[in-house]
Amino acid sequence: MTDKFDVIVVGAGPAGYVAAIRCAQLGLNTACVDEWQDSEGNASLGGTCLNVGCIPSKALLDSSEKFAQAQHGMDAHGIKTGKVSIDVSAMIARKNTIVDNLTKGIAGLFKANKVTAVHGRGRLLKDKQIEVTSAGGEQQILAADNIILAVGSVPIDIPVAAVDNAVILDNAGALDIDTAPKKLGVIGAGVIGLELGSVWKRLGSEVTILEAVDTFLPTVDKQIAREAQRAFVKEQGLNIKLGTKVTGSKASKKSVKVTYEDKDGEHTETFDKLIVAVGRRANTKDIASDDAGLVLDERGRIDVDAHCRTNIANVYAIGDAVKGPMLAHKGSEEGVAVAEQIAGQHAHINHDCVPWVIYTHPEIAWVGLTEEQAKEQGKNIKTGFFPFAANGRSLAMNEKGGRVKMIADAETDRILGVHILGPNASELISEAVLAMEYSASSEDIARTIHAHPTLSEAMHEAALSVSGRALHKVN
Ligand code: NAD
Repeated sequence: MTDKFDVIVVGAGPAGYVAAIRCAQLGLNTACVDEWQDSEGNASLGGTCLNVGCIPSKALLDSSEKFAQAQHGMDAHGIKTGKVSIDVSAMIARKNTIVDNLTKGIAGLFKANKVTAVHGRGRLLKDKQIEVTSAGGEQQILAADNIILAVGSVPIDIPVAAVDNAVILDNAGALDIDTAPKKLGVIGAGVIGLELGSVWKRLGSEVTILEAVDTFLPTVDKQIAREAQRAFVKEQGLNIKLGTKVTGSKASKKSVKVTYEDKDGEHTETFDKLIVAVGRRANTKDIASDDAGLVLDERGRIDVDAHCRTNIANVYAIGDAVKGPMLAHKGSEEGVAVAEQIAGQHAHINHDCVPWVIYTHPEIAWVGLTEEQAKEQGKNIKTGFFPFAANGRSLAMNEKGGRVKMIADAETDRILGVHILGPNASELISEAVLAMEYSASSEDIARTIHAHPTLSEAMHEAALSVSGRALHKVN
């Protein structure tokens, strides 16, 4: 006999578990299939984000930032700390407790919402059936009127540095190192490379980041990327080598010898650990039987339309497994929208208003178009900015670098993009996202009262600066 549901969600990451909860809230009989298991073989909901991604990396970023502050950041406040040390195992244990609490929290939410959690690997068969295979190899078949595929992404492997999670680590391995390596190499100066490179640098590693492309953070607004690069190299001490192609690696028990090429020729360097962070790809290998007929796009992602519908009626796909940025909150929003569509509501996802955050120090956050993209699109723009060095709250926090930059349409004044490098950029960006969601103008933010003294005044001043009337800087 086949168990039949209104909806089966495959994948319990931030896209899938949110979709399942929203379906259940809307009265749909919902199952969520997920294969993730913890080191003891128990189901661990939450996908990459909770188990080995956003949450554990932020836990380590926070611990390592506190350590760095205790070492170097207290003098300016007149606080004398003496010699500060770190117990890396305790730091990792704290991170594991946070992960454990949150993954169990999702199990609790499933229970409370009456979502049936099914542990095993799901695969789409024809006629909206899902084959579930347990870790032990037992199989069961479930069926539903609607299927949501939320199978996420996996790290990209490169043959020149095969991950063994002993000395050559992927992002999961890089979250479980028990002592700070003396010399750490990172391949890829993207989001993960910069975040994890920052963690281990603050804990005492000498960090070298090898990046193939010769532009730093090419998707970030150029001005912000330039200022960030300076801060990461000069203030954080990251050694970022751009235009550097890794050509090979040889791992031994305790180290890895890496060869790479740059404009000066070939070089060899030995690291105690090497993190490979060269991007992720959709986790779609063997996701459907041939006779299911699921169409993938040219990059192996599940092909969907603007409403996350696949080529098969009533089969949807969301999150990292489909086009668009691989960001947890983008997946969650797609999950909510698809659940509401299934329930007959009119849902909508505004892919133009997805915020991005890189949790470095200082943080980088942005939404909308960069100056370069706006110009490429032929838009007539005006820009404003405000430096945190002129913001009272920022100075009180001993944070002096970075800026808020606002880009608006020169004719309509509608905000097209906001870019922040600086303290709490991850939180500050929400105001810009909300403003853009409501199609606000820079004048709308300029006329909004911002509490004093706060970091958000930098957003206010950037908006004022768009029309040349910032109050605390020379326009
Ligand atoms: P990424 O795409 O952000 O960066 C990968 C980098 O590796 C790129 O700069 C690329 O040029 C470089 N690269 C690729 N091949 C290389 C090679 N052979 N040698 C040297 N450099 C090479 O990918 P990521 O950092 O691995 O992150 C993966 C995904 O996870 C991203 O889509 C990201 O959005 C997401 N993520 C987001 C957050 C966040 O929102 N804060 C955090 C972590 C991950």
